[in-house]
Amino acid sequence: MRGRQLGEADRILTLFTLERGKLDAVAKGVRRARSHLAGRVELFTECDFLMHRGRSLDVIVSAEIRRSPWARLVEPARYAVAGVVVELIDAFCEPDLALPDVYELLVAAIAAIAASSSPRALLPRFSLRLLEMLGLAPPLHSCVRCGGDLPAGTVWLDAQSGGLIGPECRERGYALPELHEADVANLRALALPKGDAGGAALLATAGAAAAVDELVAHHLGKRPKAIGQLAGLGA
Ligand SMILES: [Zn+2]
Repeated sequence: MRGRQLGEADRILTLFTLERGKLDAVAKGVRRARSHLAGRVELFTECDFLMHRGRSLDVIVSAEIRRSPWARLVEPARYAVAGVVVELIDAFCEPDLALPDVYELLVAAIAAIAASSSPRALLPRFSLRLLEMLGLAPPLHSCVRCGGDLPAGTVWLDAQSGGLIGPECRERGYALPELHEADVANLRALALPKGDAGGAALLATAGAAAAVDELVAHHLGKRPKAIGQLAGLGA
């Protein structure tokens, strides 16, 4: 997911693995031209790794590429959206904690982004699914403050509380973003697991997309850096 230099020729890579979740590993000699790892251990690339345990960090012995979406991720909007995906997984997932459903989500998201002509529109569904897998998903049928059923019609986003609120909990004088009935229906559809109505290709309404961005920023404590690059592209 990311890397930093170590000494003259090595890099420490942050990987997201099926068996162990997020972990740091050393790629020795990877910055030398003749390294057998160079060109394989790249961002967004899915590999089979052989590793051995070092004193503090695991060391990558070999890497075989399973899927490399690079040919299609060089397109700037796709690259930037894929950057948001790995930034969110990196920020939300603890090291050495296996999260196989998040792994599956990551692989599916990168493949969908690499094939999409409007990759930005895939982010809300990815983000909602990720929040759901981490136990942070907003309730979408009840008010996050009082637990009452949300009414049909307009509700409000209360990102500080991590969800939506109905009119009974809306305090006068606080301007919270409004969500219309279509946005709420869209959020509910986006949050459904794979295979249910809509599927991974389901696109977000502008209101739903903005609400998901706010909720992610709330749980993360900041806005993802890679979102700024998206804005720069006008995506
Ligand atoms: Zn309420």
